[in-house]
Amino acid sequence: MRAAVLQEVAEIYVEGLPRRYPNLKLVEEPLSIEDVPVPVVGSGQVLVRVSACGVCYTDIDIVEGRVLCKLPLIPGHQVVGRVVEVGKEYSGPVGTGDVVGIAWIGWTCGKCRYCREGLENLCENFRATGCHIDGGYAEYTVAYGDYVYRIPRGLDEVHVAPLLCAGAVGYRALKLAGVSDGHRVGLLGFGASAHIIIQVLRSLYPSTEVYVFSRSAEHRDLAKRLGADWVGTPSEEPPRRLDRAIDFTPVGEMVSRALELLGRGGRLVVNVIRKQTPIQLDYATHLWLEREVKSVANVTRRDVEELLSIAGKYGVKTEVQIYSLDKVNRALVDLKAARVRGSAVLRVA
Ligand SMILES: [Zn+2]
Ligand SMILES: [Zn+2]
Repeated sequence: MRAAVLQEVAEIYVEGLPRRYPNLKLVEEPLSIEDVPVPVVGSGQVLVRVSACGVCYTDIDIVEGRVLCKLPLIPGHQVVGRVVEVGKEYSGPVGTGDVVGIAWIGWTCGKCRYCREGLENLCENFRATGCHIDGGYAEYTVAYGDYVYRIPRGLDEVHVAPLLCAGAVGYRALKLAGVSDGHRVGLLGFGASAHIIIQVLRSLYPSTEVYVFSRSAEHRDLAKRLGADWVGTPSEEPPRRLDRAIDFTPVGEMVSRALELLGRGGRLVVNVIRKQTPIQLDYATHLWLEREVKSVANVTRRDVEELLSIAGKYGVKTEVQIYSLDKVNRALVDLKAARVRGSAVLRVA
């Protein structure tokens, strides 16, 4: 089968961006398109013929070595495809012919205290798809049968892919933010995740006021069309203070800005793995009056299931930019250069 393989960590070359890792090779094509054997389905696993796979900013973190994974690696953790074989000792609800999704949560131990407390996203032995386990940048992939999700009817395979990470993690951030109907909610940054979450907000909490902060005029336009009540740049003042905020940006300064925008008792959730610049907080300006800040890590299976079900019920739409598997390196460069509107998705079959 054809697969896009990461053989070694490298810095992705994007014209105009400064070099960050002088010790790494600087390349335009970090993944090689290779012919590799179709993976063998193991006990408890299913073999999936991949139709589409979303490209996530985490894949850039993986390529550039900020998230450590096995090597060589087939990345890709927003996988949609059809089950073609079921391994021994799998007796779950999914069978041959079903269209399923595979997300970042690839396997958890079920035994550590986090798994036992319903926080399998924090499992001490967490194994991620497209990181510790080969993922969906390939014609076939295997997944543990208990970690795949039926795709609701009415959602097509390419457009559903971004729901599996951008959507699911954003949804977890929304749950952690503790939004209730009537809140004023700020979304800082408006890329793959936020453009899904605004639709979830609009569907679940119709009386919330949603303010979107983005440097990109194109992203602000998209936010308006998707129902934002107010849009502006991060330095502009919104009409009123926020009750809840979710920061989707890699910029450290955005954390202090978001906290400034919160009213009393407000909560900020930071939905990003790594901030590229430092976070500087002043207790009186940013935290006093019971304002709080929280991060979000990984997803639980329940997050993915709930988000897929909400998307099916309310018809959540994703904006996608489609690439073929051969053009995966182009997708990574475009994503790093912030040239992708919505989400980048590989159409594999
Ligand atoms: Zn992701
Ligand atoms: Zn565990």
